[in-house]
Amino acid sequence: MRMVELIRKKRDGGALEDDELRAFVRGLGSGEVPDYQAAALLMAVFLRGLSARELQALTEAMLRSGEVIDLGDLSAPKVDKHSTGGVGDKISLALAPAVAACGVLVPMISGRGLGHTGGTLDKLESIPGLRTDLDPARFRAVLAECGLVLAGQSDDLVPADRKLYALRDVTGTVESIPLIASSIMSKKLAEGIDGLVLDVKVGAGAFMKTLERARALGHTLVSIGQAAQKRTVALLTDMEQPLGTAVGNFCEVLEAVEVMRGRGPADTRALTIALGAEMLAIAGVVADPIAGAARIEGALASGAALERFRRVVRAQGGDPALLDAPPRYPDAPREIRAPRAGFLAAIDAEAVGVAAMVAGAGRARKEDRIDPRVAVLLHRKVGDAVETGAPLATLHAAHGHDAAAARLEAAFSIADAPPPARPLIHERIGP
Ligand code: URA
Repeated sequence: MRMVELIRKKRDGGALEDDELRAFVRGLGSGEVPDYQAAALLMAVFLRGLSARELQALTEAMLRSGEVIDLGDLSAPKVDKHSTGGVGDKISLALAPAVAACGVLVPMISGRGLGHTGGTLDKLESIPGLRTDLDPARFRAVLAECGLVLAGQSDDLVPADRKLYALRDVTGTVESIPLIASSIMSKKLAEGIDGLVLDVKVGAGAFMKTLERARALGHTLVSIGQAAQKRTVALLTDMEQPLGTAVGNFCEVLEAVEVMRGRGPADTRALTIALGAEMLAIAGVVADPIAGAARIEGALASGAALERFRRVVRAQGGDPALLDAPPRYPDAPREIRAPRAGFLAAIDAEAVGVAAMVAGAGRARKEDRIDPRVAVLLHRKVGDAVETGAPLATLHAAHGHDAAAARLEAAFSIADAPPPARPLIHERIGP
């Protein structure tokens, strides 16, 4: 294969053959395809798109770049959830243990922060000692012991996605329906699941800014899942403002723990319950999502979800006692205050995500290390009344304070009247 010919072909709007896409993914793994050529092909795909057939072939090749886990010997249903990426989106952390506590196995492979959005792996690794680079044997062992496992792509599990994901993060090639779909579905189909719930984010802080684009992504994801014989449902959920009140890494773990204590912000809790309800219905352990919602609420209220989370943190090398310790933030917090009285009309989720990233919670380059302690804590949500000088947010960061604070300040808009309420869940795609 001459990689430059593939790049030219896609650049000029041609369709890549199945064996060309397979050779590209193989070359990524062997090192024969260098980062600069992979990045060029990603940009060509970003600009030109992929046909349904190319998307199927790319997803399949990525899925087979590592081991496909066979969980056929475990009799309980196996269901997972994946989000297309948001700001303050810590849902997986409480959701996976809650669903596991209801008797459904959750073998979850997640990603790191991507663009201005946070990643479940970075949040988990903010718990000192916790490992997400599990080999397939350890993946299975943790799943069998805890009912859930929270892992990342590795040399053995979808290594092609690990590589492409990191490249996309820093080459402006994230917001592409085929690249998002192949990334998500290659990970999910490698997990040995029976069913999948997709949380497709829409709004200012999502990669899909309009309902039309989110719907197109949702349908693409659901059809790949159904073609692979997995029961698949997608919810299109709101990402106009950040989810919850904490944006960062360890601060988001603590907010998820609050949800697992039966508390936490209303939106975070409601979405955890809605997605969990769908997972239980897909797994067939409840008759419908209404019954599923009651089970998930019970798992959060009783402490069963938190007990599972502690168990999986320990099994993956972390110290669960840290979940009870007070948060440690970098010095010199910075307050963002309301410049005038009125109602909070918008909190631009992308601007908040970029502020957190600039402050050290995300990466600008592939090699960057994140600071798990960096946090944006929101004190108000959209629709709240504010007085002049009222605290809107606190930024805890060790460096990049000025640039991050300026971005954060610009994220808030105040108006004379509250804005119309937006639903948390816009649409459902699936049977
Ligand atoms: N989540 C993923 O796993 N991949 C993407 O491209 C976006 C969100």
